[in-house]
Amino acid sequence: MNIVDVEAIPFRIPLKHPFKIALGTLTHSNHVLVRMTSDSGHVGWGECTTFHSVYGYDQKSLYDVLTRYLIPAVMGCDSRDPGELHRKMDLAIPFNLMAKCGIDLAAWDLIGKAQNLPVHRLFRETGEADTMGLEKPADRKWDGDIPVTAAVGIDSPAHTAQMARQLVEAGFQTLKVKIGLDPEADLARVRKVREVIGDQIRLRVDANQGYDRTSALAVLEKMEPLGLEWIEQPLQDWDIDGHAMLAARLKTPVALDESVYTIHDAMAAIERKAADVVNLKLPRCGGIYRTRKIAKYCREQAVPCFLGGCIETTPGTAAQAHFYRSTPNVVSAAEMEGPACYVDDVACPPIRIVNGRMKIPEGPGFGVELDLEKIEHYRVRY
Ligand SMILES: [Mg+2]
Repeated sequence: MNIVDVEAIPFRIPLKHPFKIALGTLTHSNHVLVRMTSDSGHVGWGECTTFHSVYGYDQKSLYDVLTRYLIPAVMGCDSRDPGELHRKMDLAIPFNLMAKCGIDLAAWDLIGKAQNLPVHRLFRETGEADTMGLEKPADRKWDGDIPVTAAVGIDSPAHTAQMARQLVEAGFQTLKVKIGLDPEADLARVRKVREVIGDQIRLRVDANQGYDRTSALAVLEKMEPLGLEWIEQPLQDWDIDGHAMLAARLKTPVALDESVYTIHDAMAAIERKAADVVNLKLPRCGGIYRTRKIAKYCREQAVPCFLGGCIETTPGTAAQAHFYRSTPNVVSAAEMEGPACYVDDVACPPIRIVNGRMKIPEGPGFGVELDLEKIEHYRVRY
C-alpha cells in the first residue's frame, strides 16, 4: 500500500458568526484537505487546520509546508506505517505539527478503508495498535454517542448569556466560555452565564494565555465558586511554573492546551505539576499517531485528558470522533462542534450534532464521504 499521490487542497468556508478569543478573531476556515492515494487504489482524506494568531502560521504556510516538504517526504512510503510517515516528515522539516496532522489523518483514513474497518476499530479490535508500540486499549465505557461541548466566544455579558441559553436549549450539557482579555469583564460574563444556565450544565473556561500570574490568581479565585469543570490555559504557553503555581493554589483543575504540542511538553508539564488535565487536539499535536502517545503517557501518569478541537469541518471532526472512541482516558464532553459553526461543509452528508451529541460515522476509515463539488467551490488557490 505505497503512497502514489498526495494533494493538498486549501479551502475557506465562512463561520456563521465570528469567533473571538483572547488571541484573535476567526471568521472562516483556514484549513487544508489532504487527499492521499495508494497503489491499491484506496483514497484517504485528512483535514488540517490553523489559526495564525494562536499557532504561528496561516493557511498558506500550512499549504507550503505540505507541498514543499511533507508530501515529497511521504511519496512512495507504505501508508500502513504512520510511525514511519512521521519519521520521514520530521526528517524533512521539524515542528509544523498542524501540517503533519493532515498527512497523518489521510493515512489513517486510507488504512481503515483498505481494511474495510472504521478507524476506531483498528485500535480496539485488531493488532494494528500493538505493531506501533502503542497499547491496545480496553473497550472504554460507552453509551453510544459522544457528548459535545459548545464554545462561547468573547462578547458582551448580555450576548454571551443569550448564546449560552440558546446552546443549552439546543441540548448541550457542557459549555466552554472564552475569557482572557479583561479579568473583571470575564468574571461578570462567566457569572452571567452560570446564572442563566443553572447548576446542572457543566461549564469550563479558556483564557487562551490571556492573563499574567497576578491577574489570573486574583480573578480565578473569584471565579471558582461558579463551579467550573476546569480552567484552561490561563497563562502564556511557556509559563509552566506559573501554571503549576495556579494548580497548587486553585481547587479547580488547571488544563493545558497551547503549552502541550508534544509528548515531551506533556512530560514537562506533568512532572512539574502544571497540568491537572490535558487538552488533546489532533491538529496541534500532529495527528492521531502522536496524540495517542500523549494520551498513553497521561494515562500512565493518571492525568485525565479531554478532546479539544480547532473548529474542524466534517472530515476533521470525524477523525476526532474515532480518536475519542478509541482513547480510554479522554473524559467529559469533546470539543467537536465545528461542523455546526460553518455555513456549509465539504462532506456529504455533514456530521450533525443532535441534542448536544454526535454519532460516530461508522463507515470504513473515518466514515465520511467528501463532496468534490463543494471542495472545488470553497477551494483557495495559492
Ligand atoms: Mg484552548
